[in-house]
Amino acid sequence: MRFNTRAVHAGQAPDPTTGAIMTPIYQTSTYVQEAPGKHKGYDYSRTANPTRTALEANLAALEDARFGVAFSSGCAAANTVMNLLQQGDHVVAGNDLYGGTYRLFTKVYARYGIEFTFVDSTRPEALEQAFRPNTRLLWLETPSNPLLRVTDIAAAARLARARGARVVVDNTFATPYLQTPLALGADFVVHSTTKYLGGHSDVVGGAILLNDEETAQRLHFFQNAVGGVPGPQDCWLVLRGTKTLGVRMERHCANAARIAGWLAEHPRVAHVNYPGLASHPGHEIVKRQMRAGGGMISLEVKGTLEQSVRFVCATKLFALAESLGGVESLLEHPASMTHASIPREERMKAGLSDGLIRLSVGIEDVDDLIADLEGGFRAAFGG
Ligand SMILES: *Cc1c(COP(=O)(O)O)cnc(C)c1O
Repeated sequence: MRFNTRAVHAGQAPDPTTGAIMTPIYQTSTYVQEAPGKHKGYDYSRTANPTRTALEANLAALEDARFGVAFSSGCAAANTVMNLLQQGDHVVAGNDLYGGTYRLFTKVYARYGIEFTFVDSTRPEALEQAFRPNTRLLWLETPSNPLLRVTDIAAAARLARARGARVVVDNTFATPYLQTPLALGADFVVHSTTKYLGGHSDVVGGAILLNDEETAQRLHFFQNAVGGVPGPQDCWLVLRGTKTLGVRMERHCANAARIAGWLAEHPRVAHVNYPGLASHPGHEIVKRQMRAGGGMISLEVKGTLEQSVRFVCATKLFALAESLGGVESLLEHPASMTHASIPREERMKAGLSDGLIRLSVGIEDVDDLIADLEGGFRAAFGG
């Protein structure tokens, strides 16, 4: 079955007891047993819940994976991949990871004797040099946040495999509609389903998708042992979201491509980062590994920090908020919001200038979005 058919149907047979076409929200903590240990596959909802089972099957189908494991957040999903490691193991990771993932690595797992090397994963030589004999995992995010840098997943996976390390791709920004990392050689896909998969900014969730059965069993063990499971209502919301993932992504991508092209010509814009632009340094890789450029854009305005702040406060449709991937457009200013804790000098070195603004382009009418951004430029610069 093709993508949109899987999105609507995978994991979701009509309810056997009533025929309900939508998977019920099994709002129950426990299940009645016929005799001790004799039950219908469910005994306690931390261990398993039918709404979650449906979601796990649906997400696995979208990533062309054999197994899915769902969590209460993207961070809980990332944490559970890390549960597979032990003291003395080494992880190579991209140097512009999602902040919460970086925090999990440096503030939680580093304390348990796991070592990390952060590199520019878009540079194969840098990646290669980062591996050590005890490297167990390569952790990639592509496109990255907020600079939308692109890493060649297939090339990075070949490198890692040759050195005995497994590869994780956080596919939150691209979604399986645009990019399927397992098919490119990755071992794990991690998602924050909070973003495009849920798609409506009304739920927090996460997932791991993979093909190796023994590892899937270990992840289910940690899911149950650590307990970061999503409730049935949240599973149901993500299931409702994934049905429209393909049509939403088409619109996110079309809108973002129009806006990126418009911004690239704008006299107040110094630079636009968008994987769908031919001028993007990773565009050749994008053409190979992504269906389209995605819904995220970052731009550098020609102005001061104060002018950028005026810009993000002035737009009406683009709401000033962290997070991304919902049907409504959002924008944020990394220097004063998501990346404010990084000292200015370090921030500049990492390419996160005072004028950098990140857009999560929604599915509204694109001409209204462009007019809204023009209003932001007028508020910031006059005229
Ligand atoms: C949001 C996000 C996460 C963390 O997910 P939560 O659901 O917020 O815990 C991880 N990776 C990326 C790329 C994200 O955007």
